[in-house]
Amino acid sequence: MRTSQNGLHCCPACGSPRARVIDSRYEDDTGWKKRRRLCIACQYKWNTIEVPQHLMAEMRATLAHLQTIERLAAAARLGIMDSRLVAAILATDDQGGSCTG
Ligand SMILES: [Zn+2]
Repeated sequence: MRTSQNGLHCCPACGSPRARVIDSRYEDDTGWKKRRRLCIACQYKWNTIEVPQHLMAEMRATLAHLQTIERLAAAARLGIMDSRLVAAILATDDQGGSCTG
């Protein structure tokens, strides 16, 4: 999602920062805010989703953890897995060990 320097959502079709919200909905179960936007320049319509800050933090942590797993799998596929490499990869994972217990 492109945004202008002042934080406005840019039109994905023409890049114009001039858009307005034509519908707005709050999802009770997820806490997400969905907005339908209309580009004033070219009339293109698109949706944006605003995720609560605490959920974004959880999503980033999960993504970082998945990237760690992906790096470990890639090392295993290449046959270069050894204990030092595993330790180095796990050291970059903020969530290391969260699945234990
Ligand atoms: Zn546009």
